[in-house]
Amino acid sequence: MSQIYDRVALIGLGLIASSLYWAIKRDGLANEVTGYARSAETRDTAREIGLCDTIYDTAAEAVEGADLVVLCVPVGAMDSVAKEIAPALKKGATVTDVGSVKQAVIEAVGPHLPEGVHFVPSHPMAGTEHSGPRSGFAELFENRWFLIVPVEGSDVDAVDRIEALWRGIGSNTARMDPAHHDLVVAVTSHAPHLIAYTMVGVADDLGRVTDREVINYSAAGFRDFTRIAASDPTMWRDVFLNNKDATLEILGRFTEELFALQRAIRTGDGEMLHDYFTRTRAIRRGIIEAGQDTDAPDFGRVKK
Ligand code: NAP
Repeated sequence: MSQIYDRVALIGLGLIASSLYWAIKRDGLANEVTGYARSAETRDTAREIGLCDTIYDTAAEAVEGADLVVLCVPVGAMDSVAKEIAPALKKGATVTDVGSVKQAVIEAVGPHLPEGVHFVPSHPMAGTEHSGPRSGFAELFENRWFLIVPVEGSDVDAVDRIEALWRGIGSNTARMDPAHHDLVVAVTSHAPHLIAYTMVGVADDLGRVTDREVINYSAAGFRDFTRIAASDPTMWRDVFLNNKDATLEILGRFTEELFALQRAIRTGDGEMLHDYFTRTRAIRRGIIEAGQDTDAPDFGRVKK
């Protein structure tokens, strides 16, 4: 793949930024990649592991001369970061973000960007429960969807170019409007995370009562919840505070379904339960057929 941008700046150096760096470098998609993280500790780690060609001590220095700036900080930090970099942005540069929520980020970032700078929000449907500069890997985005959420008046060439970058690192791409994006991810990601957090919280309370039995004898279902519930607390706090309406809408529907299942269990309605689980099993098959997961048992985990 040939170079798409001359200079890319990554602001925030956690899981997503570090994975982007390794993928962009592997595929030769930028001539130079600069980086900035808020804490000296993260900047030192980045320098130590060779993350980015140059790490700067301020976000403004990191974005100077960049053709593409990727904001890789928690959703709640987008506003202050955009404000900080705005005066240093090159005319004609594109700013994108990888935030898990789009409407709130567009409202937070858009107003800070000067005339002549293109804003093309994005969101990779890829991640793990790990965070920080050491957690990234180049393959994270392969065969995953990178959603592009152009804002009103987004420059067509700027959108095409960023789409080429996300495709270059191995992602599938789709374009979506912000409200639709926020509803889709509330179903596929945000509500499931909240449910996992809740279930692990319940089990933790129970664990205290039953002398840690839920931990020691945790079966696959619970273990998978704990993996999801180990995700970064700051990132997820910000997701829920910024995708409030869509998440509450989905949780309302979830609660209704839960009551229906609860009633079926109470009344011994086995047919209803069987039909329901047959329908959900088909969804799992659809995800595997779409190449978004493996059908290996235990979610592909290999015992060492
Ligand atoms: P991460 O590993 O926790 O890294 C976050 C980075 O942001 C760190 O470098 C951190 O700096 C910096 N940061 C945190 N708070 C900040 C603040 N107030 N001001 C400036 N910088 C700040 O996070 P991540 O998983 O890469 O997530 C980054 C973005 O991608 C988030 O918006 C998230 O919603 C989105 N996203 C995440 C996933 C996922 O599964 N993780 C998937 C898709 C999208 P320090 O290290 O110096 O504290």
